[in-house]
Amino acid sequence: MHQTIKNLIEIQSEIKQNIGKLGLANYHPKIIAVSKTFKIDYISNLIDFGHLHFGENKVQEASDKWKFIKEKNNSIKLHMIGKLQTNKVKQALKIFDYIHSVDSKKLAQKISNEQKNLNKKVHIFIQVNLANEAQKSGIRTDEISDLLEFCKQSNLNVLGLMCLPPFDEDSDKYFSDLKSLNDKFSLKDLSMGMSHDYLKALKYKASFLRIGSKIFGNRN
Ligand SMILES: *Cc1c(COP(=O)(O)O)cnc(C)c1O
Repeated sequence: MHQTIKNLIEIQSEIKQNIGKLGLANYHPKIIAVSKTFKIDYISNLIDFGHLHFGENKVQEASDKWKFIKEKNNSIKLHMIGKLQTNKVKQALKIFDYIHSVDSKKLAQKISNEQKNLNKKVHIFIQVNLANEAQKSGIRTDEISDLLEFCKQSNLNVLGLMCLPPFDEDSDKYFSDLKSLNDKFSLKDLSMGMSHDYLKALKYKASFLRIGSKIFGNRN
């Protein structure tokens, strides 16, 4: 069995155990296998194993790697987890099913226009920069309400909020804050938890865990 499959199975069973310990019934988080930088030949082990959710952070790389595979297998769902430039939206919508990084009205508007043209509806997460880190994308918490309203008017299908906590801090507080915000705005899904902190995200019922290196190994 390929190492990436072993890794995924181990993560799945660990998640199941932890959910049991937390006593959360009917909670089934999805694992997005973040395959950015890895070649499709290597990723294909997990595809053949039947895994369906994959994450990429660059539009061109994702198109090159996934176009052919997705044409053959339309159960595979591709998640855009990186910064999205408005001039790449058209190409992004052709390959991605979910966009986790919506952080401006300009981007929301562009997605709205292009998805009309393509007659396709993507799933959206709004990225929140909880610690107001200068180098990170995402909106401030006091901007959520306004952007959500704009998305609603633009006919966007917003599932929930997404965050990327400061790497050198305990994620717990940030996950807790994002969960509260999600509840406050009656949103149903949460995109949070990575290789180093996905078990913590379970406590707050994250619905999409974005796990890369723990499945595929270290990126160069
Ligand atoms: C790369 C990336 C991940 C996965 O990171 P790992 O630490 O390898 O699990 C998750 N979310 C985002 C936004 C990323 O860019």
